[in-house]
Amino acid sequence: MSLVKLCTCITALDANMLKGFIEHQGIAVQTRGEALAGAIGEVPVNESQVSLWVKDSQLEDAQSIYNKYMKQMDSDAEWQCTHCKEINPESFDYCWQCHEERSSK
Ligand SMILES: [Zn+2]
Repeated sequence: MSLVKLCTCITALDANMLKGFIEHQGIAVQTRGEALAGAIGEVPVNESQVSLWVKDSQLEDAQSIYNKYMKQMDSDAEWQCTHCKEINPESFDYCWQCHEERSSK
């Protein structure tokens, strides 16, 4: 049984949240990079990269859960266009439909 890398998270917090989410679905997840970053001392743990590893036989399942998780994260950060009321992803600065600039609250 070998482990394969599922993804790399920017922060240890992200990694732990994602790990918990995937493990809740019955898939064992191993994190790597956390302890190493902590040992270096110069890089704050929260800004280090942590990768998640799963068994190769469970990679497909883990990936679909990962995608679901990311979609869920995205939907939390959606914003609504003040002009046409269209819902846009967090990463867009302009409405994809009418190109209205994202309004700053
Ligand atoms: Zn719009």
